[in-house]
Amino acid sequence: MFNKTLGIDPKLYEYLKLVSVREPSILKELRQETANYPMARMQIAPEQGQLMALLVQLMGAKKTLELGVFRGYSSLAVALALPDEGTVIACDISQEYTTIARHYWDKAKVSHKIDLRIAPALETLDKLIAEGQGNTFDFAFIDADKSNYDNYYEQVLKLVRPGGLIAIDNVLWGGKIVDENIKDNRTQKMRALNEKIYNDSRVNISLIPIADGLTLLLKR
Ligand code: CA
Repeated sequence: MFNKTLGIDPKLYEYLKLVSVREPSILKELRQETANYPMARMQIAPEQGQLMALLVQLMGAKKTLELGVFRGYSSLAVALALPDEGTVIACDISQEYTTIARHYWDKAKVSHKIDLRIAPALETLDKLIAEGQGNTFDFAFIDADKSNYDNYYEQVLKLVRPGGLIAIDNVLWGGKIVDENIKDNRTQKMRALNEKIYNDSRVNISLIPIADGLTLLLKR
Protein backbone atom coordinates (compact mmCIF):
# COMPACT_ATOMS: atom_id res chain seq x y z
CA MET A 1 0.00 0.00 0.00
CA PHE A 2 1.33 3.41 -1.00
CA ASN A 3 0.14 6.63 0.56
CA LYS A 4 1.53 8.88 -2.14
CA THR A 5 0.46 9.60 -5.69
CA LEU A 6 2.01 7.15 -8.10
CA GLY A 7 3.49 7.97 -11.45
CA ILE A 8 1.49 6.39 -14.23
CA ASP A 9 3.18 4.40 -17.00
CA PRO A 10 1.83 4.41 -20.58
CA LYS A 11 0.20 0.98 -20.26
CA LEU A 12 -1.62 1.93 -17.07
CA TYR A 13 -2.62 5.24 -18.63
CA GLU A 14 -4.17 3.43 -21.61
CA TYR A 15 -6.05 1.21 -19.18
CA LEU A 16 -7.30 4.21 -17.19
CA LYS A 17 -8.69 5.74 -20.37
CA LEU A 18 -10.11 2.42 -21.58
CA VAL A 19 -12.19 1.79 -18.46
CA SER A 20 -13.08 5.36 -17.47
CA VAL A 21 -13.09 7.91 -20.29
CA ARG A 22 -16.53 8.13 -21.89
CA GLU A 23 -15.66 10.83 -24.35
CA PRO A 24 -18.64 12.16 -26.35
CA SER A 25 -18.05 11.65 -30.09
CA ILE A 26 -18.04 15.40 -30.77
CA LEU A 27 -15.21 15.89 -28.26
CA LYS A 28 -13.31 12.96 -29.70
CA GLU A 29 -13.62 14.45 -33.17
CA LEU A 30 -12.29 17.83 -31.97
CA ARG A 31 -9.44 16.21 -30.04
CA GLN A 32 -8.39 14.11 -33.00
CA GLU A 33 -8.59 17.04 -35.37
CA THR A 34 -6.38 19.05 -33.03
CA ALA A 35 -3.86 16.26 -32.37
CA ASN A 36 -1.87 16.96 -35.54
CA TYR A 37 -2.06 20.69 -35.09
CA PRO A 38 0.88 22.81 -33.83
CA MET A 39 0.44 23.55 -30.11
CA ALA A 40 -1.83 20.50 -29.73
CA ARG A 41 -0.41 20.00 -26.22
CA MET A 42 -2.41 23.10 -25.18
CA GLN A 43 -5.56 20.99 -25.41
CA ILE A 44 -6.64 19.37 -22.15
CA ALA A 45 -6.63 15.58 -21.75
CA PRO A 46 -9.98 13.77 -22.24
CA GLU A 47 -9.95 12.43 -18.66
CA GLN A 48 -9.51 15.99 -17.43
CA GLY A 49 -12.43 17.22 -19.53
CA GLN A 50 -14.52 14.46 -18.06
CA LEU A 51 -13.48 15.36 -14.50
CA MET A 52 -14.40 19.00 -15.05
CA ALA A 53 -17.75 18.02 -16.57
CA LEU A 54 -18.46 15.80 -13.56
CA LEU A 55 -17.56 18.55 -11.08
CA VAL A 56 -19.79 21.05 -12.88
CA GLN A 57 -22.69 18.57 -12.77
CA LEU A 58 -21.99 17.65 -9.15
CA MET A 59 -22.23 21.25 -7.99
CA GLY A 60 -25.18 22.10 -10.26
CA ALA A 61 -23.17 24.92 -11.80
CA LYS A 62 -24.90 27.32 -14.16
CA LYS A 63 -22.63 30.31 -14.49
CA THR A 64 -19.04 29.52 -15.46
CA LEU A 65 -15.91 31.20 -16.72
CA GLU A 66 -13.03 29.98 -18.82
CA LEU A 67 -9.70 31.72 -19.39
CA GLY A 68 -7.85 30.27 -22.38
CA VAL A 69 -10.18 28.71 -24.94
CA PHE A 70 -7.66 27.47 -27.55
CA ARG A 71 -9.67 25.21 -29.92
CA GLY A 72 -12.60 24.87 -27.56
CA TYR A 73 -12.25 21.39 -26.05
CA SER A 74 -12.60 22.34 -22.37
CA SER A 75 -15.41 24.86 -22.95
CA LEU A 76 -17.25 22.26 -25.02
CA ALA A 77 -16.79 19.61 -22.30
CA VAL A 78 -18.17 22.03 -19.68
CA ALA A 79 -20.97 23.38 -21.90
CA LEU A 80 -22.20 19.84 -22.61
CA ALA A 81 -22.41 19.25 -18.85
CA LEU A 82 -24.29 22.47 -18.09
CA PRO A 83 -28.09 22.73 -18.06
CA ASP A 84 -29.67 24.44 -21.06
CA GLU A 85 -29.71 27.82 -19.29
CA GLY A 86 -26.07 27.45 -18.20
CA THR A 87 -23.35 29.76 -19.53
CA VAL A 88 -19.62 29.76 -20.14
CA ILE A 89 -18.01 33.17 -20.50
CA ALA A 90 -15.04 32.08 -22.58
CA CYS A 91 -12.00 34.37 -22.79
CA ASP A 92 -9.29 34.21 -25.44
CA ILE A 93 -7.28 36.57 -27.63
CA SER A 94 -7.11 34.36 -30.72
CA GLN A 95 -9.69 34.63 -33.50
CA GLU A 96 -7.87 31.86 -35.34
CA TYR A 97 -8.12 29.21 -32.60
CA THR A 98 -11.63 30.15 -31.56
CA THR A 99 -12.94 29.87 -35.12
CA ILE A 100 -12.44 26.11 -34.78
CA ALA A 101 -13.95 26.24 -31.29
CA ARG A 102 -17.08 27.98 -32.59
CA HIS A 103 -17.46 25.44 -35.35
CA TYR A 104 -17.56 22.60 -32.79
CA TRP A 105 -19.81 24.49 -30.35
CA ASP A 106 -22.29 24.92 -33.22
CA LYS A 107 -22.01 21.30 -34.26
CA ALA A 108 -22.62 20.17 -30.64
CA LYS A 109 -25.58 22.60 -30.36
CA VAL A 110 -24.17 24.36 -27.29
CA SER A 111 -23.31 27.74 -28.88
CA HIS A 112 -26.18 29.39 -26.99
CA LYS A 113 -24.41 28.52 -23.72
CA ILE A 114 -21.04 30.01 -24.69
CA ASP A 115 -20.32 33.73 -24.61
CA LEU A 116 -16.94 34.16 -26.33
CA ARG A 117 -15.03 37.31 -25.41
CA ILE A 118 -12.07 38.03 -27.70
CA ALA A 119 -9.88 40.35 -25.61
CA PRO A 120 -7.07 40.08 -23.07
CA ALA A 121 -8.69 38.06 -20.28
CA LEU A 122 -7.75 40.61 -17.60
CA GLU A 123 -9.79 43.25 -19.45
CA THR A 124 -12.80 40.93 -19.60
CA LEU A 125 -12.45 40.07 -15.91
CA ASP A 126 -12.14 43.74 -14.93
CA LYS A 127 -15.26 44.48 -16.96
CA LEU A 128 -17.24 41.69 -15.27
CA ILE A 129 -16.18 42.98 -11.85
CA ALA A 130 -17.12 46.56 -12.83
CA GLU A 131 -20.54 45.29 -13.96
CA GLY A 132 -21.15 43.96 -10.46
CA GLN A 133 -20.78 40.28 -11.35
CA GLY A 134 -18.50 39.60 -8.39
CA ASN A 135 -19.44 36.56 -6.25
CA THR A 136 -21.79 35.21 -8.94
CA PHE A 137 -19.84 32.52 -10.84
CA ASP A 138 -20.17 28.89 -9.80
CA PHE A 139 -17.11 27.59 -11.60
CA ALA A 140 -14.00 28.98 -13.31
CA PHE A 141 -11.22 27.30 -15.27
CA ILE A 142 -7.89 29.12 -15.52
CA ASP A 143 -5.81 27.89 -18.46
CA ALA A 144 -4.48 30.99 -20.25
CA ASP A 145 -0.94 32.46 -20.41
CA LYS A 146 1.05 31.37 -17.38
CA SER A 147 2.82 34.71 -16.87
CA ASN A 148 -0.52 36.25 -15.85
CA TYR A 149 -1.77 33.35 -13.71
CA ASP A 150 -1.50 35.18 -10.40
CA ASN A 151 -3.45 38.15 -11.77
CA TYR A 152 -6.09 35.80 -13.19
CA TYR A 153 -6.33 34.02 -9.88
CA GLU A 154 -6.94 37.24 -7.94
CA GLN A 155 -9.59 38.50 -10.38
CA VAL A 156 -11.34 35.12 -10.65
CA LEU A 157 -11.43 34.84 -6.86
CA LYS A 158 -13.50 38.04 -6.83
CA LEU A 159 -15.91 36.72 -9.46
CA VAL A 160 -16.55 33.23 -8.05
CA ARG A 161 -19.16 32.94 -5.32
CA PRO A 162 -18.37 31.60 -1.84
CA GLY A 163 -18.65 27.81 -2.17
CA GLY A 164 -17.79 28.05 -5.87
CA LEU A 165 -14.97 26.17 -7.55
CA ILE A 166 -11.86 27.35 -9.38
CA ALA A 167 -9.70 24.92 -11.39
CA ILE A 168 -6.17 25.96 -12.33
CA ASP A 169 -4.41 24.01 -15.07
CA ASN A 170 -0.76 23.03 -15.64
CA VAL A 171 0.29 23.48 -12.02
CA LEU A 172 2.92 20.70 -12.29
CA TRP A 173 4.24 22.34 -15.46
CA GLY A 174 5.54 19.20 -17.16
CA GLY A 175 7.60 18.39 -14.04
CA LYS A 176 9.74 21.51 -14.55
CA ILE A 177 8.26 22.84 -11.33
CA VAL A 178 10.71 20.68 -9.28
CA ASP A 179 13.77 21.04 -11.53
CA GLU A 180 16.00 23.53 -9.70
CA ASN A 181 17.96 24.25 -12.87
CA ILE A 182 14.90 25.67 -14.60
CA LYS A 183 14.49 29.30 -13.71
CA ASP A 184 12.57 30.84 -16.58
CA ASN A 185 9.87 33.38 -15.86
CA ARG A 186 6.83 31.16 -16.39
CA THR A 187 8.21 28.30 -14.31
CA GLN A 188 9.15 30.69 -11.48
CA LYS A 189 5.71 32.28 -11.59
CA MET A 190 3.99 28.89 -11.47
CA ARG A 191 6.09 27.89 -8.44
CA ALA A 192 5.29 31.18 -6.71
CA LEU A 193 1.57 30.79 -7.37
CA ASN A 194 1.50 27.20 -6.09
CA GLU A 195 3.21 28.35 -2.88
CA LYS A 196 0.89 31.32 -2.53
CA ILE A 197 -2.19 29.13 -2.97
CA TYR A 198 -0.89 26.65 -0.40
CA ASN A 199 -0.78 29.46 2.16
CA ASP A 200 -3.99 31.17 1.03
CA SER A 201 -6.67 31.00 3.72
CA ARG A 202 -9.34 32.26 1.28
CA VAL A 203 -9.60 28.81 -0.32
CA ASN A 204 -9.71 25.07 0.41
CA ILE A 205 -7.53 23.19 -2.04
CA SER A 206 -6.64 19.89 -3.64
CA LEU A 207 -3.99 19.37 -6.33
CA ILE A 208 -5.08 16.57 -8.65
CA PRO A 209 -2.16 14.95 -10.53
CA ILE A 210 -4.27 14.53 -13.65
CA ALA A 211 -2.68 15.46 -16.98
CA ASP A 212 -0.29 18.35 -16.24
CA GLY A 213 -1.66 18.93 -12.73
CA LEU A 214 -4.97 20.58 -11.87
CA THR A 215 -5.46 22.47 -8.62
CA LEU A 216 -9.06 22.62 -7.41
CA LEU A 217 -9.92 25.50 -5.10
CA LEU A 218 -13.13 25.95 -3.17
CA LYS A 219 -13.70 29.61 -2.34
CA ARG A 220 -14.52 29.97 1.34
CA1 CA B 1 -3.55 23.74 -20.12
